[in-house]
Amino acid sequence: MEINLLDKFQGCLLGVAIGDTLGHPFEGKLRSQIFSYFKNFEEFLNSNSDLFRTYTDDTQFTLHLAKALIKGNGFNLDYIIREFVNWLDDPPIGPGYGCITSIRKLKYGIHWKQAASNSGGNGTTMRIAPVGLFYCKDPKALKTAAIKTSTITHSHPAASAGAIVIARAIAYLIDKTPETGFSVDDFFNVIISSISNSQDEIWKEFIKILYKLKSNLNMPIESGLIKFSQAGVKSPYFIEQYLGQAFVHPYTISTVVCSIFIFLKKLTSFKECILELATAGGDSDTVGAIGGSLAGAYFGLQKIPPDLIKLVKNNKKISRISEELYIVFEKRFLKGLF
Ligand SMILES: [Mg+2]
Repeated sequence: MEINLLDKFQGCLLGVAIGDTLGHPFEGKLRSQIFSYFKNFEEFLNSNSDLFRTYTDDTQFTLHLAKALIKGNGFNLDYIIREFVNWLDDPPIGPGYGCITSIRKLKYGIHWKQAASNSGGNGTTMRIAPVGLFYCKDPKALKTAAIKTSTITHSHPAASAGAIVIARAIAYLIDKTPETGFSVDDFFNVIISSISNSQDEIWKEFIKILYKLKSNLNMPIESGLIKFSQAGVKSPYFIEQYLGQAFVHPYTISTVVCSIFIFLKKLTSFKECILELATAGGDSDTVGAIGGSLAGAYFGLQKIPPDLIKLVKNNKKISRISEELYIVFEKRFLKGLF
């Protein structure tokens, strides 16, 4: 069966925006708190659609990164920095510390090596989808671009590892379809191998946590989220009061692991998957965005219900940017034009 890659590009970037939009009202809330508002999220969404009016920094940043790749025909440091600085004019919605502090420094001409914060937050992984799409046929270039786009704002090794894992997962899923499915073993082999052979302790720890996730996939969603909500988080960032609760920490490793967990538990449909991602608890918008990029890459645009697309602000613009990114990808990797 031939795969329509343009459909996958559009599905992936709209997946980011839909997950981000649905998760935004629940950012910073415990999962138990979220589920005290309703029993059925879909019913709640249908009768309260005005609560879900905007996406946040996750989608804003993803679109800027996509634009930089389009303008630069792939990774180009100058275009990336320019687009990241342009994000300050959006203006940013719900930005994380690691991104906003470093990008303000970039704006004032400070070199990125000095501007980058040492944050291990999920700010670089939440925007990585365009890299996973553009370099889906070139895993080596994908890894290099994922590292470079991360280190501009976050010098912490967890941030670049998370970006590689999610970009590689997108590249894997883009070639699969719900009709044929995929092997969960293969999926884990691919993402784990993308960060193996490193001497970095954090990367090694990340791999151990991914293996632990794989062996706990039979857990119910609630229990799995309680188990992995603060995976890898160390003192003083560990939140004691949320111990034993589902509250996904904005640390890269915990966010990535929880997003992958929910995605793999809900392969039934895009809708079921995204509704579950956006109500994860804690950094719900980013779990929605990251998990949404995986679900969108796997299911593709045609399998996303139109009412979810219509809900997203600027959805036509997002489709157009996805198409422009696809055209540049096609010229470079399918036609070999540059
Ligand atoms: Mg956000």
